[in-house]
Amino acid sequence: MEWLPPNWCPRVVVIDIDGTITDGNKHISTDAVNAIRKLEDAGIPVVLATGNVRPITYGLWRFLGLSAPMCCENGGVLWHPSWKAPLLRGSADVAKEAAVWLASQVEGVDPKGIATNQWRESEWCLFPNDPLDEISDAIAGSKWSHLSVVRTGFAIHLMEPHLSKGEGLRVLFDSMGWSVDEALCVGDAPNDLPMFELLHWAVAVGGAFDVVSQAANVVSPHPHGATFPPLVDAILARVAEDKR
Ligand SMILES: [Mg+2]
Repeated sequence: MEWLPPNWCPRVVVIDIDGTITDGNKHISTDAVNAIRKLEDAGIPVVLATGNVRPITYGLWRFLGLSAPMCCENGGVLWHPSWKAPLLRGSADVAKEAAVWLASQVEGVDPKGIATNQWRESEWCLFPNDPLDEISDAIAGSKWSHLSVVRTGFAIHLMEPHLSKGEGLRVLFDSMGWSVDEALCVGDAPNDLPMFELLHWAVAVGGAFDVVSQAANVVSPHPHGATFPPLVDAILARVAEDKR
């Protein structure tokens, strides 16, 4: 199959984590790990773009042996360990204030929310089964009406409406002097759609949401992380052709 468009080779590869290099049980694909290392060895930086918080993303970044900055919390937090501080594009403190107020207004809201809130820096996440309609109505009539209320499979997010992987990556690419026309991305879920729109070439892994497969340039015939060995082979073959 043709993984890449003719006469084009990515200079940067951006990958989602959950459901893209992991399977439905959140187990990481060792095939994907080995393939991703080959990209970095060939001088193609790999960017992790994820809804995960920074400590989790950093651990994976370190163990994979990556070099590029990370895009965490769906674009809310950009960071490289060599930077003095993360670039925060929203405020977890503001969203948390809203959650504490919500708990006083809506029965069934636990303001502490999900476990990873203890590391969240740009947003706040309530439990996915908290009463969404009541929460949305209460926020809309409050002083936090600028916040979006978004339910995913894992949480109800209280977040700044501009935050997305696409907007975060735009800032990250600008800061690195990279062109979005030279980037390939790989993802599986609706939070990947803004990065599919921003970057030149988008690959949906096998097992992706239908809406994501429809938006991709290429749909992998292989599930999740098994996408990476043949995709990376195609990229490295293109790199070798370019050198000839
Ligand atoms: Mg995903």
